[in-house]
Formats: sequence, structure tokens, C-alpha cells
Amino acid sequence: MKKAIRYIGYTFRDCYRAFPKFFLMSFGLDFVGIFVSLLAPILLARILELAGSGADKTDGFGVKSALYWAIALYGLCLACAPVTEVVFRAQSRRARILGEKYFGSLLVDFSGKIRLEALENPETLDRFYRAEAGENSQFTFFEQLLLSLRSAVTGIGLMAVVGRYSPVLVVTGLFSLLPSLLSKIYFEKRLTALRRSQSGILRRCNYLRGLFSRRDSVREMRVLGLEAYLTKLWERANGQRAEEYYRTNLDVGKKQVYGIIVINLCYVCNIGLSFYLMMQGKISVGAFAACLSAFTAYDAGMATLLQMVFQAVSTYHVVEDYYDFFRIPTETDGDAAYCPFSEKIEARDVHFCYSGSRAEALRGLTCEIEKGEHVVIVGENGSGKTTFAKLLTGAYLPAQGGIFYDGQKTDGMIRKSLYAHISAVSQDFVHYSFSLRENVGISDPARMADTEAMEALLARVAGPDFAEELGGLDVQLGREFGGQELSGGEWQKVAVARGLWKDCEIVIFDEPTSALDPLAEYEILSKFMEMTRRKTAVIISHRVGICRLADRIIVMKDGRLAECGRHETLLAAGGEYARIWKEQAKWYQ
Ligand code: ADP
Repeated sequence: MKKAIRYIGYTFRDCYRAFPKFFLMSFGLDFVGIFVSLLAPILLARILELAGSGADKTDGFGVKSALYWAIALYGLCLACAPVTEVVFRAQSRRARILGEKYFGSLLVDFSGKIRLEALENPETLDRFYRAEAGENSQFTFFEQLLLSLRSAVTGIGLMAVVGRYSPVLVVTGLFSLLPSLLSKIYFEKRLTALRRSQSGILRRCNYLRGLFSRRDSVREMRVLGLEAYLTKLWERANGQRAEEYYRTNLDVGKKQVYGIIVINLCYVCNIGLSFYLMMQGKISVGAFAACLSAFTAYDAGMATLLQMVFQAVSTYHVVEDYYDFFRIPTETDGDAAYCPFSEKIEARDVHFCYSGSRAEALRGLTCEIEKGEHVVIVGENGSGKTTFAKLLTGAYLPAQGGIFYDGQKTDGMIRKSLYAHISAVSQDFVHYSFSLRENVGISDPARMADTEAMEALLARVAGPDFAEELGGLDVQLGREFGGQELSGGEWQKVAVARGLWKDCEIVIFDEPTSALDPLAEYEILSKFMEMTRRKTAVIISHRVGICRLADRIIVMKDGRLAECGRHETLLAAGGEYARIWKEQAKWYQ
């Protein structure tokens, strides 16, 4: 309950920030709406009373003028509702767009701060998915709350109007609400439970559906003949989702019919009771007309109220998903800004385990990298090289032990201050469907317009004609927006250039060149070594060709350091490195 109150508070706060004018106007229009709804039945009773009494009165002129005024005001009341509705709708469209912008940007901002470890967890991905679905649900929620509030206050006011004529009618009026209110709360709980339980299967459906529209997967699907199998998987997942959805909705729909019957019966009873009171002479004809009008408005208002409360509860859960997303752990910053190191980076007894995984990826890794060194980390697949690189950048923190930059532990650092000094390219780098210039320059956008520097960098990394052959720096890359598609190796060269475009003291390359053949890889990595001469460079590779140029080779095995040293020393030692070297020597003859 506390949480609901807090999130409703957030909704009002954020809606005010997103669309302040519409926010204030909505309250103003609501006030007018409530006032008019309460005035209408009172005026109707007055009109009938004046019309009935006018003929007997001596002061016929005064009565007539009062009657005309009452009729004019009554007409105004009737006209007011559609006019306010039109104003509200027109403004609401604009506010919805402002809301989309505001709530979307909150989500995007926050996504950039989530701890990377959290993103390894499928539960986080489900929450991500639900939060995206809940984006701008606050707008709808705000409208529903406001309409609920308006209907509730109008309902109370109408009961006060009816109470002026007979208190019994107030009791029956209020009582008639209960059954349908309770049933709606029940239905809502069921539908929310269904929606939550389906977020996993929905994500799977979307994932499978996506395989049919992604170029790489469609190609593989055709060549290997995977269509039938994948179609079956998609149909099964989608069928399961639809079946659960259909069953619950059918059941809820049937029960809702009973609710509607109860509401209508209550309305008929209330009118019947007013009529009975009039026939008994307990209320006047004017009062009966007022009750008739009030109950009709009350009935419509309460139907809206229940509908809105019902929808608002449902929307609340979507809003809850949206705000819950902001509770995913963000990068925990320490309070120390990173100071450029001057001696060495040390890994001291580092342990790390991925969330949801039982085995440790790093099991007590200890090693060091000196300032300005070119270090190559080698080892078989799964030995922990990539994990170590992730920890070096500070993006992931060790579970035990620590990574120290001249004694400054990554755990205690303000991450951004460290990121500002590191450039890293991983094996699963992104193919941005942007121009070549943006693909390279995105790592340091302030210098993106420096065509000469970028052409020089691309020439060194990818060859003198690379940019020109593609059509220049401003050529659009990637098929998504009709640009030019590159080969795997060409994309890798672009990624390498991106990593080098960011001018900083530490560069980490996690096999971004693995799509190239061994000799092409050697060529590009040796150029990389040359271009990072004054920097500390870490290259991760499962191929050892480049190791001859390294100042230090770190050989990893089972999440630990197996060996460390220069090429000649390790070769002479005849250990793990010598074994891998012998296996791969044929590539570098
Ligand atoms: P390498 O780069 O040497 O191939 P990694 O650092 O990628 O090795 O992986 C080390 C171990 O951690 C492997 O056993 C791998 O299966 C596991 N691992 C890697 N990434 C994840 C992940 N996201 N979730 C769970 N386990 C992972």
C-alpha cells in the first residue's frame, strides 16, 4: 500500500514535470465538470417547481423571469460538458506526446546506468521488457485517476443533492455500488497476475519472431533449413501465450456480465424507490425529477468510476513495472575519482562469478600490467580472458580480491572517471547503422568533424583506400536504413578504428579481430601495437601470433594465471604457452 501511494505520488510529480499546462488545466476542467453536474438536477427541480407554481402566484412576472433564468442556466449546464470535453481531448493529445518524450528519456537515461552484471540476468531483461511496455502509462494513469476522482466527487455531490429530498435514497444509492466494486477488484487481480506471468513467454515469442526478420538469422535459417523447426517453436510459444490469455479473459468476461446486471438492477430500484416516495407524497414532483436526473447522472458517473478504478488499478500495475525498473541496481560508484596511474595495474586474488552461474569465471587471478606495457592475454576458450577484461575496465567488480590502479581499487572509484581514461573494443562490438564517420567518431564525438585525422587513422588501421572505396566518411553503413553493408572483417576494422579514435592512456582489445584470418589479424594487431606505443595496451586473443611483439604475455587457464613472461621465456619453459604456440605455429610460418 505504501508503495502504491509512493508510485501514485511519483506519477503526479512526473506528469506535472512532463506536461505542466495540461496537468493544471485538467484540475480546472474537473472542477467545472463537478460543479455543473451538481447544479443540473437542482436547476431541473427548480424549473419544475416554478413551472408548477407560476400560475397561482400573483407575482407572475417574478416567477417567469426566475423560470427563464433557471432554464437558461440549465441549458448552459448541458452545453458545458461537450465543450469541456472537446478542450480536454485537444490538449490531451499534445500532453500524451510530451509524456512519451519525458518518460522515454527517463528510461533511456537510467538504462545507461544499470550495472552490467545485472544485465546478465534474464529477470532483469524481463523487467526491462515490462518497463518499456509501461512507458507513458503514467499519462493514461493520470487521466484515469482524475476521471475517477471527478466521478467520485460528483457521485458524492449527487448523493448530497438526493439527500436533500430523502436520506433513504442516499443509503440505497451508496449500497448499490458495493457488489460491482468488489467484483472489479477481483477481476483486476486476475488479469494482472496473467500479464506478469506472461512477460517471460512474451519475450520468447518476440525473440523467436525476431529471428524471422533479422538478416543474419534468416540467412542461416534458409541455408540450414531451420524454418520448420523455428516456426514450430514460435507457434508453440505463441499458442501457449494465446491460450492462457484467452482462457482468463473468457472467464473474466463472463463474470463481468453479472456485475453489469447488478448495476442496472440497482439503478432501477433507486428510481422505483423515488417514484414510490413521490406517490406517497413524501417528495414533490420537482424533487422526483431531480432524483431521476441525479440517479441517471449518478448511475453513469458510478459506471465511469468503476470502469476508471478498474482500469486505473490495471494501469497502476504497468506504472509499477515502470517505476520498479528504476530499482534495478545501478553502477555503484565509490567516491574516489580515478587518478591516472603511473606504475602498474594489479589483479590481486580476483574471484568473479556471473549471476545465475554456479562456477566461478575467475578463481583467484593474480597478475600485473605495468604502465606503457603491451600485454597479450592468451588462453583457451572459457579460461576467463574476457571476464578479466571486463573487470579491468571497472564495468564489472570482483566478488573477492581487487583490481588496483597504483593501489586505487576499482570498487571504490567513480566509474566514469575511470572510463574516461580507457578505450575498449570487445568481440561483440556493435555494428551501428550510422555513417562511417559516426561509427568511428562516436567514441570521441567532439573530434568527429576532423576529417583529416579520421582518414589518417582509417588508412593505418584498414588500408589507404578503405574509406574512399566505401564512398567516403559520410557513407551510410548497414542495411537497416539502406546503407552499405560491410563484411565481418571490414566491420572489425571499423571497430578497431573506433577503439583507437578515443585518445586515452589504456586501450583494451578483446578479440575484435577474430573474424580476420590469422595473418590479416597479425597485420592489424601489429599496427595496433605501433599506434599505441605510448599507451598501456591489453590485447586478448586465442591466437598467439601477436605474442612475439608483446612486452608481457599473460597465459590464463581455468580462471587463473597459468604463466606470465615474454615469448622466448615462455617458449623455453615448455608449458601451456609453448603447447598453444606449437599448435598454431603453422599459421605464422
Ligand atoms: P574466454 O574469454 O577466455 O573465452 P570468458 O571470460 O568469456 O572466457 O568465460 C569464462 C567463463 O565464464 C566460462 O566458463 C563462461 O562459460 C563463463 N561466462 C562467460 N560469460 C558468462 C555470462 N554472461 N554468464 C554466465 N557465465 C558466463
